[in-house]
Amino acid sequence: VNDELDNLKKLLARLPGLGEKSGARLAYHLWRAPGQYSEELARAILAVREKIGACPVCGNPTSEDKCVICKNPERDQKTIMVVESPQDLAAIESTRSYTGLYHVLHGTLSPLAGKGPGDINLESLARRAAGAAEVILATNPSAEGDATASYIEERLAAEAPDVKLSRLARGMTVGSEIKYLDPLSIQHALKGRQGK
Ligand SMILES: [Zn+2]
Repeated sequence: VNDELDNLKKLLARLPGLGEKSGARLAYHLWRAPGQYSEELARAILAVREKIGACPVCGNPTSEDKCVICKNPERDQKTIMVVESPQDLAAIESTRSYTGLYHVLHGTLSPLAGKGPGDINLESLARRAAGAAEVILATNPSAEGDATASYIEERLAAEAPDVKLSRLARGMTVGSEIKYLDPLSIQHALKGRQGK
């Protein structure tokens, strides 16, 4: 028995999308990997944990007091796009067709998994929305994404009644995820966003 190797296999198997077999395959790969690769990987994981925090305004990862998007005075400060994850944000940024700010939820509401409003980054949204002209709900077109968007719509209608609400998901195919969409489809969904 190799305790160290077993431990690494188990840890890798817990990564999303992997299982026992892939965990084992990667553990052997790392054990045999030439050069400094394994050390660099271990250091990179630690550095991310130590140096990267969530932007206190929008929730996007940052190593500074605010993320680069919130810090940029050229961005349209009156428009906020609500996304589920930093990957969704990155996908939308890659289209270079959106110039407003973001709000990253870090998940969706999921009553079955016991995830309520307090478990995602929702608390500061109403306050931010109250100072904005438009909030674009860009959750994914899934059951959880739709439920989350509907919940936010209801809440903002009560807590920030003057803000214009629109939804991106209506322009996207059900089941598609923003982070996997090509830039052109995202641009299309953005242009075709619909108000309530
Ligand atoms: Zn930010």
